[in-house]
Amino acid sequence: MNSKGIGQFIQSKWQAFRAWQENPIRYRMDLTEHVCNCCGHRFVGNYCPVCSQPTGQGRITWSSIWQGIGQLWGVESKSAIYTLWQLLWRPGYLVRDFISGKRQVSYPPVKLLVILAALFALVHYFFPVPDPAPSDSGVRYVDLVFDWMNRHQNIGELLTGCFFILPTWWLFRRAPRYPDHTIPEGFFLQVYIAILAYITQAPFAASHPLPILLSTAYSYATYKQLFGYGYWQTLWRWTLCSVLSLVALLTVVLVAVLIGMLYQ
Ligand SMILES: [Zn+2]
Repeated sequence: MNSKGIGQFIQSKWQAFRAWQENPIRYRMDLTEHVCNCCGHRFVGNYCPVCSQPTGQGRITWSSIWQGIGQLWGVESKSAIYTLWQLLWRPGYLVRDFISGKRQVSYPPVKLLVILAALFALVHYFFPVPDPAPSDSGVRYVDLVFDWMNRHQNIGELLTGCFFILPTWWLFRRAPRYPDHTIPEGFFLQVYIAILAYITQAPFAASHPLPILLSTAYSYATYKQLFGYGYWQTLWRWTLCSVLSLVALLTVVLVAVLIGMLYQ
């Protein structure tokens, strides 16, 4: 293959990847007739329209054991793992799909965050990681807040994310690709970003700089893909959004500290 051929090969692979990013799942209708093993209804399609049992469900087999255990961890139909895979390669497009009504492309995100927390708690039980260094700001209540957030990383990420909802709405409400997003849609954006932050940070020690950089880059990429502003337009909006959220978070901590001091 000459250099021109290699260039064309890379270009076609890139175009296929971009097409996958935009629309990764093609749904197909099953056109054969089935008799539902649960309610006996005769139907055409992937699910029984009367009792909603999927087609192909019959007597218990060996694979049913794996499916039964898998359901406990949310990996039924593999969509939890495929959702994480999509989140790594098309985060903003996945959020756009989910909040705009394509609910089936993603595993329920809040449930996913809880399952990941349980999974990592289990991993850390067998492979303990050192506790993050205690916060040392000199103010007891500030230390209490930050220590709690370090120890409850998943909830901490989501709580921090909640402070992004209003600034995001204000700075991105006229976005070209997803205009007029609502506050509840903004909440789910933060749930997905919390999942990304959690899966990039959880395997590392708290003080390691790489996961922080990685999750920051992912947050930017998610905003870029979802809202569709150019690189610089996204950068200053996203930076201002982060600064405003941090100011709001610190204000709440400060008010909590002042109230704590008043009642001491
Ligand atoms: Zn049925």
